[in-house]
Formats: sequence, structure tokens, C-alpha cells
Amino acid sequence: MPYCPKCKYEYRSGIKTCPDCDAQLVDELSKPSSRDTELVVVGAYPFESIAQQAKLLLESNGIETVLLNEIMSQTDIVLVFADGGVKALVRKEDAERAKEILAEL
Ligand SMILES: [Zn+2]
Repeated sequence: MPYCPKCKYEYRSGIKTCPDCDAQLVDELSKPSSRDTELVVVGAYPFESIAQQAKLLLESNGIETVLLNEIMSQTDIVLVFADGGVKALVRKEDAERAKEILAEL
């Protein structure tokens, strides 16, 4: 079932874009989790607003993205801010494509 990466609503197959927000629908609903998926840092941003833009851009391309501060609130693992920025993480298999997409940002 296709679903909207922004609204998380599912739609009938055949529908390509979300009627609510115009985002491109993606195929499977699965959130990357630091527990069962290897995440790779694809970007680091000085401000959360910029990181959110990167996340929206990636997710509109069907790449699930987690910002470091979200991970920290969802899990009990301790992450160290190496350079004080907000980091964008994607699944390892999406990393190459994510970097290409972010190069346009
Ligand atoms: Zn939507």
C-alpha cells in the first residue's frame, strides 16, 4: 500500500501523490530505528530548521530520515554531539541516494 511520508496516511494502490500535501507517496511504512537498522549520517546542520528542510526533502523522495535529536528522545542510547550540529541519519542502503539529493539543498 502506498502511503504519504508526511501524513503517514495509506492510500489505494495506483495513487501517486498525497491529495493532502502533494508529497510523492512511497511504498512501505517502516521507520528506521537505531535498534534494528544501521543508520548512517548523511548531513550535519548548524540549525534544526535547516535539518528539518533536509529531512522533508529526503522524505519527499521516499527516504526515511531521522534527526539526531529525535533519536535521542526515542531511545535510551546516548549520542555525543561531535560538532554541535543537528545530524540527519538515513538507513545505510539509502545513504548514497540521500547524499545526492542533499547535494541539491
Ligand atoms: Zn500527505
